[in-house]
Amino acid sequence: MERKILLIDKDENFIKFIQERLQLQNFVVEIAKNTTEAYFKIFEFVPNIIVAAYDIEDISALQFCKTLKSHKILRRIPFLVLSENVKPVDKYWAEKSDVQSVLRKDTPYEEVMLVIEELLNEYEMDEETKEQIKNHPVSSESIQSQTIKLMKNEIEEYTFLNAFRDMVNEYHTDEKALIQNTFDLLSVFLEYDLAGIFFNHAQEANKYLLHFDIKNCSVSNFVLEKVKRDFFSKMPNMKEFSITGFGHDVVNDSNENLDKRIISANEFKASLILPFEFEEKLIGGVCFYSKQEQNFMDFIFYDIMVRELTSLFKTSYLFSGIEFLSVTDGLTGLSNRRQFDYSINREFNKSRKYPSDLCFAILDIDHFKSVNDNYGHQYGDYVLKEVSSIIKNSFRRSDMIYRYGGEEIGIIMTETTIPSAMTMMERLRKKIETHEFIFNGIQISLTASIGVSSNMDKLEDAHQMIECADKALYRAKETGRNQVLTYSGEDE
Ligand code: GH3
Ligand code: MG
Ligand code: MG
Repeated sequence: MERKILLIDKDENFIKFIQERLQLQNFVVEIAKNTTEAYFKIFEFVPNIIVAAYDIEDISALQFCKTLKSHKILRRIPFLVLSENVKPVDKYWAEKSDVQSVLRKDTPYEEVMLVIEELLNEYEMDEETKEQIKNHPVSSESIQSQTIKLMKNEIEEYTFLNAFRDMVNEYHTDEKALIQNTFDLLSVFLEYDLAGIFFNHAQEANKYLLHFDIKNCSVSNFVLEKVKRDFFSKMPNMKEFSITGFGHDVVNDSNENLDKRIISANEFKASLILPFEFEEKLIGGVCFYSKQEQNFMDFIFYDIMVRELTSLFKTSYLFSGIEFLSVTDGLTGLSNRRQFDYSINREFNKSRKYPSDLCFAILDIDHFKSVNDNYGHQYGDYVLKEVSSIIKNSFRRSDMIYRYGGEEIGIIMTETTIPSAMTMMERLRKKIETHEFIFNGIQISLTASIGVSSNMDKLEDAHQMIECADKALYRAKETGRNQVLTYSGEDE
């Protein structure tokens, strides 16, 4: 069988040296001084292997190889590079350029031959492939301009990819910024009139939202509602919540285009709805709508976009899980002390900045130590969980209930005055008093004492408000337990 080698090098002495030896081994050798020549010779000569010096003219051997390898037939020809000096980084780039092998130019000739033989065995071309190469119309585009185009595509691709990754790295802890930046990036590349993005969270959130970005037009609420329902119906694994718990909001809205108002979902001529899943859980979704006929999947970076969105949703989903754990008490599922310290200061300061009523209550189970002593620690744990769930079910804002201390529970009540806080706490006290605690077949009754305070004008900070609730609780304990008291600072 004829074995044909295409040698590319501008160094005539080296070419002569290697050519003589190859011919002794019955190789048919063709020579090219640069890549332009080499490119044409590939189609005429149809080599079984290409051997190129690292530094050839016009474009580098690696770029030349990469361009050939992007071609669906020429890619089958093995490519060997001979370099004056092979550093690890050269090997790395060679591999990235799909070069089969890199050797030093001063490698003993026998070793070079061995590698060539191996490559010929491994990448043996069948007759059909050879025919295809021979009959393939030679592109009128020079190899240099093909390479430049390829590099340009790659640069754009990497730029898009980097923009995505930078964004995720920078904003994965800030969902609002992440949503805005995702829309900003996608709208550069995709021509849509309406886009939506939805993040699912690892733990139950209060509300699920589809966030909309509206471009160059305005969209009636009726259409948004319709789109949301359409989107919802295409999300798999949404068992844990229903359409009633699925709302929408508009992140960007170009209201100035009132003349371009979309009043019916039928005006959209193209759409794409994509759910994203991870370990059989829904982690997010996106949708795009356009008034122009188009196929959103034709987007040149479609695959990259899908891959990067998957990783964005994954990062965000996993982070929401970690975030949940870091602010949640493991035993009761209530927000933990760390979260309490943050929230009480935030709410107190907010109630000063935008004056509003704020109340705080501490609940402490009466004689809890004796529950532990008489029935064991496990029973105590059960009581804590049970009391927590009674409290959670008694309040609208279950996110404002905290495990404040060992068996003390803190409740922040926004927009609430002392009289209504007292009424609510009294109701809670009664609920606990009448509750039957049953664990391991043992039934007991319990009571709790509650201290309440408010953001009275004379208080300087949240700390003082907590102190007042503490004092009220202390008095409730001192004066008989199982009662709700408030303390306003005057020691009577
Ligand atoms: P008082 O009516 O004065 O509140 O009496 P008390 O026995 O409840 O006294 P106190 O509030 O000081 O007791 C707190 C007890 O709560 C002590 C501690 O062993 C128990 N405790 C704290 N955290 C946990 C927990 O996570 N699990 C269990 N089982 N017990 C806990
Ligand atoms: Mg107690
Ligand atoms: Mg206590």
